[in-house]
Amino acid sequence: MKYTGRKALPAGSVSTWPHKSLTTTLRTPVRPNPSVSPTLPHKSVTTDHNTSQTVTQRQPCEPDSWEKLEQDLQDCQRCPLAKLGRKKVVLGEGNRHASIMLIGEAPGFDEDRLGRPFVGRSGQKLDQIISAIGFRRNDIYVANVVKCRPPENRDPDPKEISTCSQFLQRQLALVRPDIILALGRFAANYLLQGQSGETKTLKAMRQKIYQNDGKYCICTYHPSALLRTTEYRQPVWDDVRVLRNLYDHLVKQPATFTSSDVPKYPVLPEHSL
Ligand code: SF4
Repeated sequence: MKYTGRKALPAGSVSTWPHKSLTTTLRTPVRPNPSVSPTLPHKSVTTDHNTSQTVTQRQPCEPDSWEKLEQDLQDCQRCPLAKLGRKKVVLGEGNRHASIMLIGEAPGFDEDRLGRPFVGRSGQKLDQIISAIGFRRNDIYVANVVKCRPPENRDPDPKEISTCSQFLQRQLALVRPDIILALGRFAANYLLQGQSGETKTLKAMRQKIYQNDGKYCICTYHPSALLRTTEYRQPVWDDVRVLRNLYDHLVKQPATFTSSDVPKYPVLPEHSL
């Protein structure tokens, strides 16, 4: 069942982290085939023989597909990161029909080497987090805003983000998640502040549920931040329990965590996502 309505969300207070894995049976919403929906502007270049000028003509839109996306990303040279030591372009992985999509910042050393997102220590931490709320990797889809590793794991710059984000937009259109979990400040700012150029701290963006057109977004700290300090354990635990109960609510199944166990986050409607 694909969620179409809007309902009040469960509320409550907090518990401890880490938490034992849950054995909840997942009920994955039945989702329409995403390979037929999104469309991309398509142009072709011809010559006007009267003026000898080149003319760009807009062709009827063609549906996007994972195959086209993979093809377009192959050896992508669209931004400087292609020539700054990148080994592999990291598209993303997981369930391409998932209701939940996790979005991080950029590949790190291990991701670049293996061509897979969230492997290595931060990947293990992510697996612990999603397992603690009863999910496995194959239940969700995971991607980054930027698909190539910035050298020395530096922050991606605004130009790299604006060039590469077209691919994330296409992934979002193909997966069509009901819930997005932004991992870290970069992903949250990209998703919630968009082209406004405004940047906020993660603290300022957390503890809210952003909603637009039946789609929800929650922000939390990046798993690598949890590796650096235990300070973020409780906030992440709060955020992912809210995510789990939101998912349960959308697929109309009993809440995994009792409402008195889950913090109450306000829902901000019609936020652009
Ligand atoms: S970061 Fe994105 S835009 Fe830049 S080269 Fe890699 S895939 Fe292409």
